[in-house]
Amino acid sequence: MIRIDRVLANNPGPFTGPGTNTWLLDDGNGELVIIDPGPIDVQHMEAIHNAIGDRSVVAVLVTHTHEDHAPMANPLALDLEVPAIGHAPGPNFDPDLRLDDGGHLEVGTSRLEVVHTPGHSQDHLCFRVEDILFTGDHIMGGSSVMVETMGPYLESLQKIRGTGMRRLHPGHGDVMEDPDLVIDWYLAHRMQRHEQIYEAIRAGANSAQAVVETVYSDVGTLLQPLALRSVQAHLTLLTEQGRIASDQGEIAITSPKAP
Ligand SMILES: [Zn+2]
Repeated sequence: MIRIDRVLANNPGPFTGPGTNTWLLDDGNGELVIIDPGPIDVQHMEAIHNAIGDRSVVAVLVTHTHEDHAPMANPLALDLEVPAIGHAPGPNFDPDLRLDDGGHLEVGTSRLEVVHTPGHSQDHLCFRVEDILFTGDHIMGGSSVMVETMGPYLESLQKIRGTGMRRLHPGHGDVMEDPDLVIDWYLAHRMQRHEQIYEAIRAGANSAQAVVETVYSDVGTLLQPLALRSVQAHLTLLTEQGRIASDQGEIAITSPKAP
């Protein structure tokens, strides 16, 4: 039976919740992979080594290359003499091996399957073992996901819905049961935001910043950049949908309802 351990990095914050979850996935016979070793941090590195104990690591994986997930992957992989694996190189990561959607990796007697889930970032992967999915920042426990590209993000949520999973192990926050229910909530929440943003523009908000002030008025200053990026992702999708258009930086809806 597979065994999963969590080592929590000491990087709590508005974007990372309690900190980054570094996951150790063991096939049950002492062969394991490390998922998202997190930021460069000597104490966290030690904690990971302690959690490994005398077991045998076969690879270090990253869900994506953001600075709270990937920077320690290369040094740790080098130290353990195993490959560092991800979807693509990034500013904090240089993969020895690149995995794409549908790819897989043998972890002892277990098979880890790769699901490409662009949206939070273009290079984002989820990893599936049996009925468990490691979700990185595609789905987080207890905090809001920053979305770079909304269309792909929504598709990436649909993609993992109804695939028979039982648990989600996120990059931040606690393990979640009932994945389809969580995904439905995520989809509903996003669509609700999407319509709120459209309505704000209809009511006269004519810039991304104006939309943030209308729709995210309750958000503290620390989260303002996140809100702005999310709004921009929604605006891009509304533009792709032909519902809004921008003219010299001013946004407006394209088809005002006739009276
Ligand atoms: Zn993260």
